[in-house]
Amino acid sequence: MSAVRAGRPKAKAGPYVSTTNACKLCTPLGACLAFRGVEGAVPFLHGSQGCATYMRRYIISHFREPMDIASSSLGEKHAIYGGGPNLKQGLKNVLCKYQPQLIGVATTCLTETIGDDVPRLVKEFIREYETSGDPSPLPRLVTVSSPSYQGTHMEGFHRAVRALVDQLAQAAAPTAAVNLLPGLASPADIRYLKEILADFGLAGIILPDISETLDGPQETTYHKIPAGGTPLAAIAAMGGSQATIECGATLKGQDTAGQLLADRFGVKLFQIGLPMGLRETDLFFGLLEMLSGRETPRQHALERGRLLDAMVDGHKYVFDKRAVVYGEEDLVVGLTAFLAEIGVRPVLCASGGDTGRLHGAITAVGADLLPEMPEVRGGVDFYDIAEEAQGLAPDLLIGHSKGYHLAKKLQIPLIRVGFPIHDRFGGQRLLHLGYRGAQQLLDRLINAILAKKQADSPVGYGYL
Ligand code: SF4
Repeated sequence: MSAVRAGRPKAKAGPYVSTTNACKLCTPLGACLAFRGVEGAVPFLHGSQGCATYMRRYIISHFREPMDIASSSLGEKHAIYGGGPNLKQGLKNVLCKYQPQLIGVATTCLTETIGDDVPRLVKEFIREYETSGDPSPLPRLVTVSSPSYQGTHMEGFHRAVRALVDQLAQAAAPTAAVNLLPGLASPADIRYLKEILADFGLAGIILPDISETLDGPQETTYHKIPAGGTPLAAIAAMGGSQATIECGATLKGQDTAGQLLADRFGVKLFQIGLPMGLRETDLFFGLLEMLSGRETPRQHALERGRLLDAMVDGHKYVFDKRAVVYGEEDLVVGLTAFLAEIGVRPVLCASGGDTGRLHGAITAVGADLLPEMPEVRGGVDFYDIAEEAQGLAPDLLIGHSKGYHLAKKLQIPLIRVGFPIHDRFGGQRLLHLGYRGAQQLLDRLINAILAKKQADSPVGYGYL
């Protein structure tokens, strides 16, 4: 029986409804992550200093890389008189200290509430700068509205990607390039996607590209802006590409960057779910075959074959296990698609995101494989998830680090995926996408089940 409830409102104790350990992060944090994936870019928050500090802490502890986020550092008086002067001074400081190619300005709760008109302020800044006689070149300035009381870090991420395309892409001569908008994938995922595109002989424009900027090599010289990221010229050229592939099941039919490229420049748009698990990855490779006119290269066909083989080998360990899956909506959909293929029953699919599209997307990937549809809950926090999970007897929890306390309470393994991963090492190198990502996920999941079985055994054994 399918049991679907929209998120709250649901009182936890009496009429007062609060959020307890949110299952989402702040909206401009997602925008900063997207800006970090552009070459020569500095993310800039128009708001108070604490916002930048919180976001830097979260991002650094996951990626283990320096993450500078500039701030207009508003104080009390700016909440009354407006933050324009601080914004302009802050932009000047960033110009002077970083000499960036681009500054991505994201708004915060405070500046949205006081109603600062950031696009107008930035236009004013450009006019004033151009008449100031300062010889330093002005970087590109991209603005995005990202109040955190509206949406999640994923909305912030997608809005920033759309803003980059909106404010930088131009009409361009047609090329055979393919725009790839992968969503919030790990740096390892992005490196793998680049490898796949190259193996198909396709010139790809991946936006954003955090493969180096958030997982760079050891260097003897400190660079204020890390190397890598999508070049500005490539973003400008996206309007001439032959097609856009946009990943994210809940993005379908929305006002996205891919839709903008289609509407403004006529770039053919293909919207798919995150390529996770076998069937969703098959869809992605099928698109690449069509766009490149080539068959899937042998090395990838072999990876697919090995994945199938591993699914058969591992089925006896995972069959009928019950999983609670949580995190950002598109990742939850991708994980559900994968779990349904390997015989694990997702019993609860939950997200702090509340687009209203999670249930439809879960049904689309699972209805023909799952014997019983899971509970689907959007707009929830970990209080809700814990309450819901109690009665569902899950064997596994799959999601980011913020579910650790619940896993501990339920005494079941937590398989860490997505962002943020604060209590393990190497979150930035986890693979989620494609045949290779599914293989790694399958191995990790089976090993977590085996480790638990071994630990729970009163006699212990060394052969499983
Ligand atoms: S939720 Fe709002 S106030 Fe808090 S860090 Fe995010 S933008 Fe700043």
